[in-house]
Amino acid sequence: MGVETKHIDIYPKQDSFPRELMGQRIKSVTVSEPKDDSERRPKLLIIYTGGTIGMIENPETGALEPFDFENLIDNVPRIRRLDYDIDSFQFDEPLDSSAMNPSHWQDIAYVIDCFYDDYDGFVVLHGTDTMAYTASALSFMLENLRKPVVITGSQLPIQEVRTDGEENLITSLQVAAARQDDGSPVLEEVAILFENYLWRGNRATKYSADNFNAFKSSNFPRLAKIGLGITFRDDVLWRPRGNEPLKVHYGMDNNVMYLSLFPGITDTMIRHALNTPGLRGVVMKTYGAGNGPSDPNFLEAVREAIERGLVIVNTSQCDNGMVDPHRYKTGSALYGAGVISGHDLTSEAAITKLMFLFGQNYPVNKVKEMMETPLVGEMHH
Ligand code: ASP
Repeated sequence: MGVETKHIDIYPKQDSFPRELMGQRIKSVTVSEPKDDSERRPKLLIIYTGGTIGMIENPETGALEPFDFENLIDNVPRIRRLDYDIDSFQFDEPLDSSAMNPSHWQDIAYVIDCFYDDYDGFVVLHGTDTMAYTASALSFMLENLRKPVVITGSQLPIQEVRTDGEENLITSLQVAAARQDDGSPVLEEVAILFENYLWRGNRATKYSADNFNAFKSSNFPRLAKIGLGITFRDDVLWRPRGNEPLKVHYGMDNNVMYLSLFPGITDTMIRHALNTPGLRGVVMKTYGAGNGPSDPNFLEAVREAIERGLVIVNTSQCDNGMVDPHRYKTGSALYGAGVISGHDLTSEAAITKLMFLFGQNYPVNKVKEMMETPLVGEMHH
C-alpha cells in the first residue's frame, strides 16, 4: 500500500509533565501521500493505541493480541480513496485497553498537545473495554478543545471478513474531517464513534460485549445520525466558549474508587472501603434516584468519612435518569450526611472527573463545587 514509515522523537513541551513517554521514539506512519493542490484538504492524525481493531490471533494460544498499525492499515485499502492527508502515530506497544491507566490518557493527550496545530482532527483507535473512560478523561484534560477528537475501535479485528473496524475507522475519519461553511470543524469535542452512532465521549458507556453497536448514551442524544450520509445535530454539539488556546491538564489523581451499594452491604465493608489509605474521592453507586440504606450506622460511616475530607459523589446504578437527592427520604439522608449529587453523570465520567479535579490540586470544597457543575457537557444542568 506504499505506506511510508518514519520515527519521530517526542520531546517535552512542558517541564512539569512527569512523562515516561518524553523522548521515547514513537512510530509515525504516513498513510496517504500529501497531495499538492491549491484547495487545502483536511489533515488528520490517527493515534493508534491498540484494542481489538488491530489484534490478530496468536497461533499458539488462540488468544487475540494487539498488533502493529501497519498491519492494521494494510487491511483498509479504502482509506486511500479518502481525499484527506492522513498521518498516524503508534505507541511503541499497542495495548488491550483493559491494561490502560491514567498515564496512557496523559500519553494520548500529549500527542494531541504536540500536534494540535498541525492537524485538523484526531482519530484515536482504542480498545472498547475502557474507551468510555479515556473519552471522559480526555474531555476534561483537553480544555478549550476546538478540534475533533474521535475515538473508535471495533468488536472484531480488522482482518476478519465481517469486521466492523473498517467501517468505524472510515466513518471516524469522515467525522473528524467534517467542516462548517466557514471552514471550522463541525465537531469541537471528544466523541466516540461506533457503528452508526456518534456519542459525546463523556456521556457514553460500553454496554455490549457482542453487538456492533457496543456503546450507548442513556441520558444524552447522539451527536450525529449516521446512515447514507452523516447528519450532525447542531442543537446538541458542544460549542466551547471564548477563544482561549488549547490547555492540556495532565494532572490526574487516581486516589478514587467506586462503591456500589447492594442490599446486605455491611457497615464493616463500608468503613473498610472508606478508610482505604490515601483515598480522596468515592463515586457511590446508589439505587434508583440516588437512594441508599437508612441504617444509622451506614449513614454515620459516610458522615465520618466526609468529615475526614473525603468527597463522596452520588450516582445511580440506573443508566437512565438522574440522581434526585430530595425525591426520597433515603436519598436526602445521604445528602444530609454530606454526599454530593452526581446528577446524570455516567460512572466513567464521574470517576474521571474526580481524578481530574483532584489532579488539579483544588481544595475539597472546590472539588465538590465543580463536581456539581457541568464543565464540558458531561452532565445535565
Ligand atoms: N479487550 C479489548 C480492548 O479493550 C476489547 C476491544 O477492543 O473491543 O482492548
